[in-house]
Order: sequence, then C-alpha cells, then structure tokens
Amino acid sequence: MDCKEFNGLIQDFLHDRLDEMKLSEFLSHIEECEDCRDELRIQYLIYEGLERLEAGATFDVDKDLADYMQLQRKRLSSRQGIKMTAIASEIITTAAFVIVLFVVLFYQ
Ligand SMILES: [Zn+2]
Repeated sequence: MDCKEFNGLIQDFLHDRLDEMKLSEFLSHIEECEDCRDELRIQYLIYEGLERLEAGATFDVDKDLADYMQLQRKRLSSRQGIKMTAIASEIITTAAFVIVLFVVLFYQ
C-alpha cells in the first residue's frame, strides 16, 4: 500500500469499514510510515475530537488513537483466528469423511 492509497482509506479506517485485507495493509503501512501516522493523527483529531468535545468528554488524541489502533489489531487477529478455526474444522470433517469412505469401501 502506498501513501496515496493509505490517505484514501483513513476515513474508512476511522469508521471501522475496512475489510480484513485492507485493515492488515493499513496497519502495517502505519508502522513504517511517519507521514501517514501524522496524517491519521490529524484526521482522528478532527473526526473523534470534535465529537468528544461536543459531548463534553475529555479527549487525549495520542492515547485514544493508540487504544483505537490496539482495538483494530485485536479485531484483525481474532478474525484471523476465526478463519483458522474454520479451516481446521473443515480439514477434520474432510479427513473423517475420507476415513468413513475408506472403511465402507474396503471392509465390507
Ligand atoms: Zn505513508
């Protein structure tokens, strides 16, 4: 992902609208690109900050953004965990089917 694409996805990231693939690319880009980190920080400040201030709540952009990123990372790893579980259970089902087939065909 390049910086231009990253910038186009910031709003989707903040609204939690990125799919797994994009979210993963988004999070790895931000680890290595300082410009985009700054850009995200500014947009987060505008998006989340205004809302919080209107609600009269406190807002600490650096801490809250770090928390939000942590949340997104967790979400990503739990999504991947779910997918792994699905694949594993599919393998087990297929293996069980093959064993049953084998037994039926050869032990009659
Ligand atoms: Zn960048």
